[in-house]
Amino acid sequence: MEKIILLKLGEIALKGLNRASFENRLMGNLRRRISPFGKFEIRSAQSTLYVRKLAGPDDAVDRAFEAAGDVFGVVARSMAAECEKNYGAIRETALSFLAERFTEAATFKVDARRSDKRFPMTTPEIMETLGGDILEKYPHLRVDVHHPELTCMVEVRDHAAYVHGDQLPGAGGMPVGSAGEALLLLSGGIDSPVAAYMMAKRGLALTAVHFESPPYTSERAREKVLALAKRLERFTGRLPVWVVPFTEAQLAIRDVCPEEYFTVIMRRLMMRVASLLAEREGLGALITGESLGQVASQTLHAIAVTDKSADRPVFRPLIGMDKEEIVQLSRRIDTYDLSILPYEDCCTVFTPRHPRLKPRLSEVLEWEEKLGAEALAEAAYRDAKIAGEPEEEEKRDADL
Ligand code: ATP
Ligand code: MG
Repeated sequence: MEKIILLKLGEIALKGLNRASFENRLMGNLRRRISPFGKFEIRSAQSTLYVRKLAGPDDAVDRAFEAAGDVFGVVARSMAAECEKNYGAIRETALSFLAERFTEAATFKVDARRSDKRFPMTTPEIMETLGGDILEKYPHLRVDVHHPELTCMVEVRDHAAYVHGDQLPGAGGMPVGSAGEALLLLSGGIDSPVAAYMMAKRGLALTAVHFESPPYTSERAREKVLALAKRLERFTGRLPVWVVPFTEAQLAIRDVCPEEYFTVIMRRLMMRVASLLAEREGLGALITGESLGQVASQTLHAIAVTDKSADRPVFRPLIGMDKEEIVQLSRRIDTYDLSILPYEDCCTVFTPRHPRLKPRLSEVLEWEEKLGAEALAEAAYRDAKIAGEPEEEEKRDADL
């Protein structure tokens, strides 16, 4: 009996004319996600993706099924058995495919759906007949139509029939890339990885930028950030990280600007550098992990002043979330344990004792003028390097 993964599409089924391009993107994302486990055929019909193993180890389908739970654009998934469209085959398939589940459960019901209207039985007939046959084979079972422990689902579709147990939730959202591309400001903290997850869920493909200030920040702090990016890739797909050297800019801020303005000016510089990078790389928005009022740099005033230095929309998906909610989500997406590793972030290097809660833009602009903020931003931008790619020299070696 062949196991087939059925993935139900969510909002993208509503997208009318764009539907084909959304589906294609989703199929591409899914293919990249599950190809490490084996070779699969992915087909789309009737708002469902059908994933069938062509080659690979015994556990390939189970692993693909689990991984499909991370792919945005899928609302529900079930592991199904495919069979011919006649009642005998459906009965045999249900009894054997769900045998273990029938044995364990105390209550069940049969649910049926029939998109092939030529099938000779109506859905109530399928439900009743199969329900009776299941009870005959598993007399310990009781039918409970309201709260069954197990639902045996039969779907009679155009090309075949499918039997499965309860479906599991999918990741929801929209296929990564379907909403465009954006630049994520990725620190090593708890919040920005969660922000990445939330915006990827709405269909943005992400590139990350990380600011570091060696020797005040360590090699290990950088590695932690790269590890976070890697861990996010199960949701985001490929997530390249640009690393921007920020020491010079931070030292200049410390030497020139009043302490109470350090943070806001530093954050504005980050936004400037990020805007330059986004422009060059064709990324339409910036994303941060800010949450209103969480720290001094995230008051309404500070955010307003910071925003002015970005040249494109800044998405802050955590803006209305409590820390506890953010922590819960970071546990769920499995970034929490990395985020709490105690390596310093460049933000914490020259933290003022009393940051201004209501910074004034006019004053900030004056200090930035004295600082030469624009030149500092451009220098930092020029020195940005993509992480994990061989240096020029190594590349040449490799070419030889
Ligand atoms: P996080 O937990 O994401 O670090 P936070 O609550 O510690 O956030 P801040 O340190 O003020 O808050 O940072 C706010 C946001 O600014 C971060 O969520 C991130 O998007 C961005 N950010 C901060 N530091 C860096 C950095 N070193 N590199 C890139 N982005 C950064
Ligand atoms: Mg931080």
